[in-house]
This record gives sequence, structure tokens and C-alpha cells, in this order.
Amino acid sequence: MEITSFNPPRRILMGPGPSDVSERVLKAMSRPTIGHLDPEFVGMMDELKLLLQYAFQTQNALTFAVSAPGSAGMECCFVNLVEPGDTVIICQNGLFGGRMKENVERCGGIAVMVQDNWGRAVDPEKLEQALVAHPDACLVAFVHAETSTGAQSDAKTLVQLAHQYDCLCIVDAVTSLAGTPLKVDDWGIDAIYSGSQKCLSAPPGLSPVSFNNRAAQKIRNRSSKVQSWFLDLNLVMGYWGGDGKRAYHHTAPVNGLYGLHESLLMVKEEGLENAWARHYRNHLLLRDGLESMGIHFVVAETDRLPQLNAVSIPDSVDDAALRATLLNEYNLEIGAGLGELAGKVWRIGLMGHASNQRNIDFCLKALRATL
Ligand SMILES: *Cc1c(COP(=O)(O)O)cnc(C)c1O
Repeated sequence: MEITSFNPPRRILMGPGPSDVSERVLKAMSRPTIGHLDPEFVGMMDELKLLLQYAFQTQNALTFAVSAPGSAGMECCFVNLVEPGDTVIICQNGLFGGRMKENVERCGGIAVMVQDNWGRAVDPEKLEQALVAHPDACLVAFVHAETSTGAQSDAKTLVQLAHQYDCLCIVDAVTSLAGTPLKVDDWGIDAIYSGSQKCLSAPPGLSPVSFNNRAAQKIRNRSSKVQSWFLDLNLVMGYWGGDGKRAYHHTAPVNGLYGLHESLLMVKEEGLENAWARHYRNHLLLRDGLESMGIHFVVAETDRLPQLNAVSIPDSVDDAALRATLLNEYNLEIGAGLGELAGKVWRIGLMGHASNQRNIDFCLKALRATL
């Protein structure tokens, strides 16, 4: 077999991520690789931090991108904030809440699960009951935008509740960042992680995170070492330059960070509020088109994520065959259902650069022709 250079087809990515990456970001990534301790690169990292603070709406000094995908950002939050024996309340309303439980247990913590049905927002009343029932809990974790179901939870209220009961909060914002309103400082979020490949529309492989002073304090006061050397924030911060000189920790994914820098710059140029509004407007356009075809949403209108549209697969439609046709004949990727919703729903993403009218028209046309 002769192996030649890999030339991927040009797809339109309307699934749960990665989303379409703009030419501008791709071009930024093809610029010359320089040393990760080169002063020019260090300057780029400082700018990247400012851009991330803007995207998260935070002044947190401890804001940077973990050199690995969103799952590593999740793990970074848990391994640093959970110590053996800690009780952590996890609100689960989809697939990703289940991964939080795995993380807590692997850190030696005790996970208390608060379950809501898939496709529903997290119920603050259930969280409050759990907080009352478990006065020893020190952390609450939940997913702001459940990509597995298309449901959005009221992060501000959940964080407030956690604080009333003296808990810190870990928030999964992998899909919400830059797609739907999110205000880390206003809402008092203590620790948050996201991903580069959803509404930021950079390639996958980087996970923006941010920690406030209360979270940093808890990490500094740990009685046991963080179990992960790579994700130990005490070490990583020496590298991302909290204060003082940059010490070698690992080699940063240099060109990947160029891409994230460019994508965040594009968010800044558009304006975060404008990006949120665009995601919402485009969601309404897609919704109207789908509903006119008799395709219905899974999530109640009030809890819907504009960037991830979960719809029921019409009876008598072959899920896999339809998605294969879209991919092969239209170069269009939409998402399949996950977990409990596998085979029951499609997840149509309108994330970041992919959230535009041309994609919506194209997707509706392709669905109409194929159904
Ligand atoms: C995509 C996603 C993750 C995982 O991110 P990866 O980059 O795939 O590791 C975690 N949480 C949510 C809500 C996601 O949508």
C-alpha cells in the first residue's frame, strides 16, 4: 500500500463538535513554529490569557488553556479541587455529568448524584435538597450546556445555591463558552473548563480553564499532592506565568495555541454579546425550518441551547443511513444521539463559525431532499 499525504474532504460540521474552523484560524496555525520559551511566544501566551479572560468574563489570574482537550480541562478541575474523602454533589442531566462522577471517584472523593432526566435543565430544588442532606459536601459540579441533550441549566442560580451551603462550584462550559451567555465573575463560578472546538471554532485539543481565588486557595491548602503530575496547577502555573519567570513544565502545543489565539481574537472582534445573539438568532431560523418539516425538539423551549439542537428522529427514518447520506453526498456532518438518546435523536450543532445562515439553509435543504 502506498501512503501519500492525507487530504481530508471539505465538510460542513454541524454536529456536537468539532465545528467548522475558519480559513483565518487555519492560516494562523500554519505560521512558523517557534520555541515555546521564545519571548515572542511568551508574549502571545500573555495575550491569549487576556483573550480567555474576556471570553470567560473574568479577571481571574489563573486563566489559561490546558494543553489537551476538554476532558483534560474537566480532569484538571477535579484532580486539583477534590481530595480523598471529599464529598462532591454532582447534578447529572446527561452524559457528561456521568464523567464528573468518574473523576470524583478516581480522586478518592465521594460522589453524591442528583439526577434529572436527559433533556431537562438541572433542577435547583433538587440541588438544594442534596445540599441540606449532605452538609459535609464541599463541592458542587454541573454541566452548563449538556451537549448530549441540548439542554442548558441556570448556572447562576446553581452556583448561588452552592455558595449558600459553603460549597465551591465546578462548571462544565465546554459547549457554552462563546455560544450562550456565561459570566464567570458575575455568577461567582469558582472553577470552569471549556474546549477549543465547540463555539470557539478552533481545532480540538485545547481546554481553556479558569479558577478564582477561593479555588486557588483550596488548591494551595491541599493536604495531599494532586494525583496527576501533568495537571497539577501548582506546577502548571509556574509555566503559564502567574508571577515571575516562566519555568519549563511541558512543551506547549505551539501552533494549536496560534489557532486558539486567532479564534479568540475573532470572538473579541465580533463582541461576545453579538456572538451570543448570533447563536440565538440562527437557532430560531433552524428551529423554524425543522418544525416546518415536522421535526420536533427534544428540549423544552425555555431550556434549549441555541448552539446544539437536539431533535427527535422521525419514525421510519433510518438514522445511520440518513447521516451517511448527508456525509457522503452533501459533505455535511450532523451528530448522532449519545447514551440514552442514541438512535432517538439528531444533534444539529450551530457552533461558532458554523453558526451562519448559509449552513442552516444548506442543512435544511439536504434534510428535505434526503427524508
Ligand atoms: C465535548 C464536551 C466535553 C469533552 O470535550 P473533549 O474536547 O471531547 O474532550 C466535555 N463536556 C461537554 C459538555 C462537551 O460538550
